[in-house]
Amino acid sequence: MTIDTIEEHQARAAALGQRLEGSSPPEILEAALIGAFPGRIALVSSFGAESAVLLHMAAQIAPDLPVIFIETQRHFAQTLDYRDALIAALGLRDVRIVEPAPAEVAAQDPQGDLWRRDGDQCCTLRKVAPNQRALAPFAAWISGRKRHHGGVRAALPIVEHDGLHYKINPLAAWGPKEIAGYMRANALPAHPLVAQGYPSIGCWPCTAPAAEGEGMRAGRWAGQGKTECGIHRPAAQRQQAF
Ligand code: SF4
Repeated sequence: MTIDTIEEHQARAAALGQRLEGSSPPEILEAALIGAFPGRIALVSSFGAESAVLLHMAAQIAPDLPVIFIETQRHFAQTLDYRDALIAALGLRDVRIVEPAPAEVAAQDPQGDLWRRDGDQCCTLRKVAPNQRALAPFAAWISGRKRHHGGVRAALPIVEHDGLHYKINPLAAWGPKEIAGYMRANALPAHPLVAQGYPSIGCWPCTAPAAEGEGMRAGRWAGQGKTECGIHRPAAQRQQAF
């Protein structure tokens, strides 16, 4: 048996992504769930401001799809309530709630203030490592990132390979108008913090409302010079952080 190199995986991801460029998000999801990676793919969701769209699409195609929620133990209570309400409303049957390893938390964050001292290490402990463990059985995962979020996401491909997994980004080309239209058309409930000025929602210590005219993710790690948690870094860079 030959093992494909990372370059071969990346070339395959690029070819699939090019083929799917211009397809609708449900078409992209179907191509991934049924065509390319049946039984070998999961969706990672933060149950945040825009998450209902992708979760609803996935539930229409495969309600048994494994959905991974990273329980950082720093979520807003509203997010946990919203998660449970969406699971029930959409009929999601395999939501996997994954937590940081207790021994790692005890060793690295005994006072629970790591987010204040070292946000990158806190994200590695509470998000990156649990996500990587949860994804170990899968060949591919689905993310809800979008190009309109800007920063490194502006050039987001439809399909990529991060050195360990294929990643599918069905909503890459959608903007706020399409997201809002889909929410309305399918009567999807909004995350309760959206009405309080939070366009993007993560952990409570690192999420603030965004002012009018600011970018979607302006309230994430505001003033810290940090824009991403690290789960989307190439695998080799994540390993260095462990
Ligand atoms: S977003 Fe903040 S609280 Fe959450 S894991 Fe990262 S640094 Fe820690």
